[in-house]
Amino acid sequence: MIPFWASETSPLDSEATSRPPFLHISSRFVLYCSTVNTVASSSSMRGQTISFQTNRLFSVADAYLPFSPNINTRWRMLLTELSSEDIAVALDLLEKDWEVDPLLKDFMLRKIEKVSDHTVTVGSVTYHMPYLEDEKKYILWTCLWPDCHNCCDRQGRLPLTSDDLIKVGGKLEYKDVSEFIERETITATWQEPSPGGGTVTLTTINLKRKDGETEKDDGTHVSCRFLDKDGGCTLHPDRPGVCQMYPFSAWLENDGGRARVHAAYQFTGDCPGFYMSADAGEMRTEHENYSEMIYDYAMKSSRTTREGYSASSMH
Ligand code: SF4
Ligand code: SF4
Repeated sequence: MIPFWASETSPLDSEATSRPPFLHISSRFVLYCSTVNTVASSSSMRGQTISFQTNRLFSVADAYLPFSPNINTRWRMLLTELSSEDIAVALDLLEKDWEVDPLLKDFMLRKIEKVSDHTVTVGSVTYHMPYLEDEKKYILWTCLWPDCHNCCDRQGRLPLTSDDLIKVGGKLEYKDVSEFIERETITATWQEPSPGGGTVTLTTINLKRKDGETEKDDGTHVSCRFLDKDGGCTLHPDRPGVCQMYPFSAWLENDGGRARVHAAYQFTGDCPGFYMSADAGEMRTEHENYSEMIYDYAMKSSRTTREGYSASSMH
């Protein structure tokens, strides 16, 4: 995986669109910017703008791990230790309501070795799908909503892009973005494994998932306050981009000086929508439906970092 450096690649056309400025800067927001800048300046690799934002306590490394030839064995073992217990707990909960294919379960628990990466490019997004070599099957996905809303019931974190701040703030009838940030968000800094090994430190503005949420609640599973009794989102159609993108996570790679958006599944054990098939084309509709949105989100996420509203730095 090649990190995307904003200074080395040409921005894509859709990034050049104009957008509303943030007008009123609250003291909390100044503090936030200071936190972001401290994190960014302490990194030896500042400026790196991979899109790392996921809503499920799940790093891009997790998405990329099952089929990445670049990740060494030690790292693979470490990550397995870090992730498998949580995934196993999530799968146990999932199995109370849904039938989970034992093979899929083994894959998510990293018990299947012979897995290769199958890619398909749709629009501006290159999707990565695991291919189980012995079974000769791809892992595909479709959303089972409204029968399922697990991703909102066991919400992990809601990082906001700068566009989300305006969109969600407006939906909640805030006239002033800084007031929205003050009342409805928390700022969290955390570390997670990076796709190439090592650690990445991230700082993001996150939408509160429950009343009275504090920084201490970051990273815990919470039933989101915007989930209604019918399984819908009361913020829809202005829900955060990271929610729209689930169960995909996206990142940017430098492709000959241009940014290429990649997407892979987040295998957290919470989503019953995964299935296996010998025909990867069965997922064509989902790929087409998600392509523009994933691309758009990756651009917004990258821009959020460049504008100083989030930070990621490698160690
Ligand atoms: S958990 Fe999966 S199947 Fe359920 S609503 Fe979310 S994306 Fe759809
Ligand atoms: S904001 Fe809406 S879509 Fe996102 S987790 Fe909450 S209820 Fe689900």
